[in-house]
Amino acid sequence: MRDRIADGKRRLGVMGGTFDPIHHGHLVAASEVAARFDLDEVVFVPTGQPWQKGHRSVSPAEDRYLMTVIATASNPQFSVSRIDIDRGGKTYTIDTLRELRAEYADADLFFITGADALAQILGWRDAGELFSLAHFIGVTRPGHVLADPGLPQGGVSLIEVPALAISSTDCRARVARGDPVWYLVPDGVVRYINKRALYRDPSQPTR
Ligand code: ATP
Ligand code: MG
Repeated sequence: MRDRIADGKRRLGVMGGTFDPIHHGHLVAASEVAARFDLDEVVFVPTGQPWQKGHRSVSPAEDRYLMTVIATASNPQFSVSRIDIDRGGKTYTIDTLRELRAEYADADLFFITGADALAQILGWRDAGELFSLAHFIGVTRPGHVLADPGLPQGGVSLIEVPALAISSTDCRARVARGDPVWYLVPDGVVRYINKRALYRDPSQPTR
């Protein structure tokens, strides 16, 4: 652990995601990284229109934002930022980090990402600048290999978190089939999905 008195800097985790919907895999990953890296806060940043997901329509940003707020509201270490949503258009991690860097000028940033997303980091635009803006923490995710031999030395930490085989894709498919998502996502998120009739398959009868 670091010596807080010696460096005095806030340590801010950044968890970007589509959060369509947010689920317990996201929350466990953020909580585990916060504890392991002695973070003061984790900011969840729902994306605008994500360029990786052009093949499907993403739920409205306000719904994803509100589900993220509902899921994180009870944890004093968690907060939600609207920066990517309010910027509009496609979200690039470089823009997210530049903006957070300016907003939290005196904090150290830790970008938290799952193994699947980490594998693409080197393909992201401006990978060099990304590593100068934040330390990257890759977390295990069932079904994805964590290690990437091409990652730069020092800029990335790979850690194991308790494996939760939950994905937003599976949650959406469950809702569309009429299967439960209780305990995969927080209770308030289940209720919000029902209230807003998200992910329903229009060909299925309402239940
Ligand atoms: P989708 O299935 O729609 O892609 P997702 O479950 O992957 O959704 P995202 O919003 O795409 O959720 O993920 C945001 C971040 O959280 C990514 O870095 C992703 O790797 C990570 N993540 C998602 N699910 C898990 C999980 N179960 N365990 C660890 N990390 C996860
Ligand atoms: Mg994903």
